[in-house]
Amino acid sequence: MNVATPPASGPGLLRRLLLQPAALLALEAGLVFGLLIVLLSMPFLRMGLEKAKAGFDHHLMELASVIASRIDGDLHETLMSREQQSGEVHDKLQSVLVRIQNAVPSIHALYTMRYRDGGLVIILDAARSADLVRPTDPPSFLTEPLDFDLANEPDTIPTLMAGQAYVDRGAYDSGGTRRPMRSVSAPIRDAAGNVVAILGMDYEESLYAAEFERRRDHLLRVAATLDGLLVLGVMGLVYWLRRSIGRALDDLALESSTDALTRLGNRRSFDLRLQQAVNAARERQTPLSVLVLDADRFKEVNDSWGHPVGDAVLTRIADCLRAERNPPRDIFRVGGEEFAMLLPGVVALDAIGLYNRLNEAIRRPMVLPAARIEITMSGGIAELDPRTSESPEDLLLRADAALYLAKNLGRDNATIAPPAGS
Ligand code: GH3
Ligand code: MG
Ligand code: MG
Repeated sequence: MNVATPPASGPGLLRRLLLQPAALLALEAGLVFGLLIVLLSMPFLRMGLEKAKAGFDHHLMELASVIASRIDGDLHETLMSREQQSGEVHDKLQSVLVRIQNAVPSIHALYTMRYRDGGLVIILDAARSADLVRPTDPPSFLTEPLDFDLANEPDTIPTLMAGQAYVDRGAYDSGGTRRPMRSVSAPIRDAAGNVVAILGMDYEESLYAAEFERRRDHLLRVAATLDGLLVLGVMGLVYWLRRSIGRALDDLALESSTDALTRLGNRRSFDLRLQQAVNAARERQTPLSVLVLDADRFKEVNDSWGHPVGDAVLTRIADCLRAERNPPRDIFRVGGEEFAMLLPGVVALDAIGLYNRLNEAIRRPMVLPAARIEITMSGGIAELDPRTSESPEDLLLRADAALYLAKNLGRDNATIAPPAGS
């Protein structure tokens, strides 16, 4: 029996490699690993942002320390109380605060304090100066005696007196809006380096920190969006890979089950489908007929007109087999000029009718530029009795025997095989 060889063009090297399950697995594992790396890096990004936020506090403490270093501690020591609000020394020191507060818009208040009788009293504050460009809001806060409740802030004074800057987060209510502030303190020292007073700086976060936090939130949102996009992207990529590889596999399966010349099912798929059809017929207890067809004296076509014409004739036979749509069936090219049909639910007598219609269509002369070809088919039919346990191979053998008989009877006809076991 001549079996058509599949075309030489197989799948390319890359496709072959991609089709390896290991390659697919490695590719997907790589993608998932990359995604994991990015996801795992998110906490570090957040940590970095938190650190940057802590860095902001540090920056404020440094700023307060620098301002405090501009205050002459020895001179400040000569100012004993906030009642001492005028005089050359007072004005000189206060002008330093006013100049700095005017220069830095986010400084809400700038003042100095002395430690006295277990509490802090304000000595200087920029808010009292007429030279302040932006009057401090609310000014009343600073004109009242400052009365720290040290019970609530046990660390504040020890920290400050130890010469450390200090940041306290809070908020002022102003006209119904709560404005976040950071109260930053830094020690003022005398020439000998002793802490003699404390600089207080209220820093309006809304002008800097809030902006920072807004940016941080934005950054986190962007990162989260990127995360989402990345997840989607990877999922899309995996989906695309799976689909294209699935398609390639389908193509390959089709190629391996299809006859290249006629695009009918090949011998391999016939064997598979025959087994399935027999199982199904037995399960449903319905008949199944197998019709095998063989072109008569086909060798003469090749000998007279050449192999390419023979191929064209085979293609046309396949077209005729396909064109007859009743009953629905699977058609295969099982050998060189041999075809087969699986006819589920069809009894042998009806299969003869189908054979006749097909043979009539095929016998119509085929007119080619260089040839006029008339060809007929011989047929063999075997019907499966679903109550028997006949194997697919035996069923096919009976159909082949019926075909052999038709050939012996002079060709251009079909015979029905006697029932199995008879
Ligand atoms: P019979 O009526 O007894 O079937 O005679 P036949 O000539 O058809 O049978 P035989 O088995 O002697 O010859 C089959 C021929 O089919 C021989 C082979 O060259 C030809 N053939 C097989 N496959 C192909 C093909 O793919 N293309 C072409 N052109 N010819 C093929
Ligand atoms: Mg043959
Ligand atoms: Mg033949």
